[in-house]
Amino acid sequence: MLNRQQIRYCLDTMGEMFPNAHCELVHRNPFELLIAVVLSAQCTDALVNKVTKQLFEKYKTPEDYISVSLEELQQDIRSIGLYRNKAKNIQKLCALLIEKYSGQVPTDRDELMKLPGVGRKTANVVVSVAFGVPAIAVDTHVERVSKRLGFCRWKDSVLEVEETLMRKIPKEEWSITHHRMIFFGRYHCKAQAPKCDVCPLLEVCREGKKRRKRGESVASTK
Ligand code: SF4
Repeated sequence: MLNRQQIRYCLDTMGEMFPNAHCELVHRNPFELLIAVVLSAQCTDALVNKVTKQLFEKYKTPEDYISVSLEELQQDIRSIGLYRNKAKNIQKLCALLIEKYSGQVPTDRDELMKLPGVGRKTANVVVSVAFGVPAIAVDTHVERVSKRLGFCRWKDSVLEVEETLMRKIPKEEWSITHHRMIFFGRYHCKAQAPKCDVCPLLEVCREGKKRRKRGESVASTK
């Protein structure tokens, strides 16, 4: 596991590598962000952005989403994985927003998690990006990077990863670290081909050292 000094080094290095890390889901307000994050489950941000470009022109309010049939909404998002379920959740979510929250996106994570299709990760992204509340949303990139580097244990659950990161990273850096870890995992420490050979974190990374020992590092940069 990384010590305090090594964690600092990792955070600073990721900051230098990705100074402009940010949420890549295109949105103009908290409601659009919420819809985009719900759509992004098991789907790339690039595909979500392609779909929401037209979707957000047609649907601007929760009322708009429930004014059409389920089949019509499903058709509008059909290129996105799990679109049938996602359309159902979006309509239920919009109905609940109107009924309980005057059509507004709640700013509280626990309230957000009461909405259909909104889990802890989605709620963390929304409170952090839309409302500036410190949070670390653990997606596949954050989990992989945290485990490879040794911020947490391999066997940790997603919730344990989040709790460990919150314990080890200063609160004021939670949100930016979340974005930097996503960029680091998406563009550098990739799932299938981590760029260990050119990684400035190799000397502190347990996974990188293991790969180097096995002679995998050269192949891993391809
Ligand atoms: S050394 Fe390899 S596994 Fe470790 S952080 Fe860098 S790219 Fe990822």
